[in-house]
Amino acid sequence: MELRCVDCATAYPPVLLYRCKACGGILETVGDDGTERVSLGESVTPLLRAHRIEAALPGFSGEIWLKDETRNPSGSFKDRLVASAMGRALALGVRKVVCASSGNAGAATAAYAARAGIPAVIIVPAHTPLGKVTQIAAYGALLLLVEGHYSRSYDLALALAERHGFANLTTTFINPYAVAGLTAVGTELVAQLGGAPSHVLVPTGSGPLVKGVWQGIADAGATTRLIAVQAQGCAPIVQAFDFGAEEVAAWGMPQTIASGISDPLIGYERDGAYTLKLVRRSGGRAISVSDDELRAAMQRLARSEGVYAEPTGASPIAALPRLLAAGDLPPGSRVVCMVTGHGFKDGKIYQEMPVRTHEVDDPGDVAAVAELCERALAQA
Ligand SMILES: [Zn+2]
Repeated sequence: MELRCVDCATAYPPVLLYRCKACGGILETVGDDGTERVSLGESVTPLLRAHRIEAALPGFSGEIWLKDETRNPSGSFKDRLVASAMGRALALGVRKVVCASSGNAGAATAAYAARAGIPAVIIVPAHTPLGKVTQIAAYGALLLLVEGHYSRSYDLALALAERHGFANLTTTFINPYAVAGLTAVGTELVAQLGGAPSHVLVPTGSGPLVKGVWQGIADAGATTRLIAVQAQGCAPIVQAFDFGAEEVAAWGMPQTIASGISDPLIGYERDGAYTLKLVRRSGGRAISVSDDELRAAMQRLARSEGVYAEPTGASPIAALPRLLAAGDLPPGSRVVCMVTGHGFKDGKIYQEMPVRTHEVDDPGDVAAVAELCERALAQA
């Protein structure tokens, strides 16, 4: 295995290196060195047909599938990146790791560091959802809270890695061994569907999952249209797509309930440009959704399919009506929605939604309770 720059193709030995020394470009791994992963028993995640979501899309004739990444050991697809990068860090003799995260990658890094028996420093924005912060702390990691947007946490993790000997497990494009762990998503999709999907909708911050899906499907000799989904309150890649630009400009003030994709890309705009290039090359597009659309999609996913996702994980479902209206989902489409993170991680958003709860005054009066149930169910 070696590292190679995606822009200038300069090759490097497989050490801990985060950017091309020649041009500052993104590095990718080429070939497999058989490094043993750190494992928490992760395996292939379920691919579920979403019949009721299909039926709720008037005019759609095709298949909608949910790739349920909430079922990874720490509850998000980030486990795939961390299992891969942690194994490589250990093989290189590093015994401490750092990760800048909006929450899920931090939880994954903390979990796999505990499993490996090494210390982890996790850096998150101070406003990170409590469920994610609680999970990171529970695994025993040292948690650092940084005021402001995610890119500030990113800068600090990179500085600790470059100056103080930490392996940087931040899951943007910065760690090529982490990104390599996502190729399996594309490979699994082809195996589970018996062929490539026509479209894969990917919640997108900087975009490593876009790359993973693309690479895995390309390795299987197939293609798919990649749809990068962002939140309207933080949509640097969508903005560049809509302008027809090749460069991606950083996003000034992220404002969205989708914490997992709230990444303004400040200082690593090239990550966004690379993702945009892959999206365009695939014949796909970038699209953004509002927070209200995210909430509605979370409810639909939970109530009509039994899948409990955080706002970011529901963003592909939120994008479906817009894509259909734009003519991007022709008849016969086989669409995969990447459900990237668990609802447990951000319960507050669900807690703010109206729920069907009733007080039972007298549990002994079963007839009255039965009547209440009939009445309430009839209204549903
Ligand atoms: Zn380069």
